[in-house]
Amino acid sequence: MEIFRSGFITIVGRPNSGKSTLINQILKQKVAIISDKPQTTRNRIQAVYTTDHAQLIFIDTPGIHKPKSRLGEYMNEVAYQAVRHVDVVLFMLSANEPLGKGDRYILKQLEGTKAPVFLILNKIDLIPKLEILPLIDRYKEEFPFAEIVPISALTGDGVDELLETIIRYLPEGPKYYPDHVVTDHPESFIISELIREKVLLLTREEIPHSVAVGIDQLSKREDSEIVDIQATIIVERQSQKRILIGKGGRMMKQIGTLARQEIEQLLGSKVYLELWVKVIKDWRNKQQVLAEYGYRPTE
Ligand code: GDP
Ligand code: MG
Repeated sequence: MEIFRSGFITIVGRPNSGKSTLINQILKQKVAIISDKPQTTRNRIQAVYTTDHAQLIFIDTPGIHKPKSRLGEYMNEVAYQAVRHVDVVLFMLSANEPLGKGDRYILKQLEGTKAPVFLILNKIDLIPKLEILPLIDRYKEEFPFAEIVPISALTGDGVDELLETIIRYLPEGPKYYPDHVVTDHPESFIISELIREKVLLLTREEIPHSVAVGIDQLSKREDSEIVDIQATIIVERQSQKRILIGKGGRMMKQIGTLARQEIEQLLGSKVYLELWVKVIKDWRNKQQVLAEYGYRPTE
């Protein structure tokens, strides 16, 4: 009889390498938000992938980088903690970009890791096929990678092979989560991330990543299938609040509409979404606010 294998996997890599895209590709649904701007993923996201013979629990870490604020420090800490306790570390690179300073910094941090480190060469859809093998040979020189796996997180190319390879490295273990569980984050967290994604999408450069979203209310009406959600978007300056609200409240309405549509898909029910905007000066450095909005170094 085949044994059941299970274990923890973390994905590290510089912002924009495609970590969240891979998670969503594996689960075939959206649990991690994606953006073409760096540093979108703040909290770690646990994604659970279960087959008949194995269970893989993924931790999508925020990018490891030189911290500039307390939030930055927190993000680094989460990333390092994740790396220490896992069975496999996936180090992700964009195949279409040269190895940069940021990548070398992360590799340096990974030197002492006990777990096998895989190099995931992502975005192979962006380079000619003939360049893949020479790239693999080149990266073999950089670090003692246990495996080098070329994939496209976007198209799904190579992802099944990656999952099979990971499973070979996992120890025999229990099924930690029941079959239907794909993430251990509460729905409210995913909802707040979806709203934050729409803010970043629609405001482009005007609203920096200092934006946070808190869910104040999430409840199903007794007499119908409608879910009521109230959320607060937090920015650092009055000028940012004005941008978010927009002329005659147009921006806020647009954010609300896009977010609501996705939340309705997620929950499978009609949603009544109310959004508020609040200015908290310099919130990134305020521990208390960080804690209130779920940014805790340990859980
Ligand atoms: P993260 O910061 O590492 O989590 O990166 P994201 O998953 O948010 O992806 C950053 C950007 O790269 C997004 O615009 C993705 O659509 C894009 N991306 C991710 N994987 C691929 C891929 O395999 N091919 C291509 N062409 N783009 C990708
Ligand atoms: Mg991400």
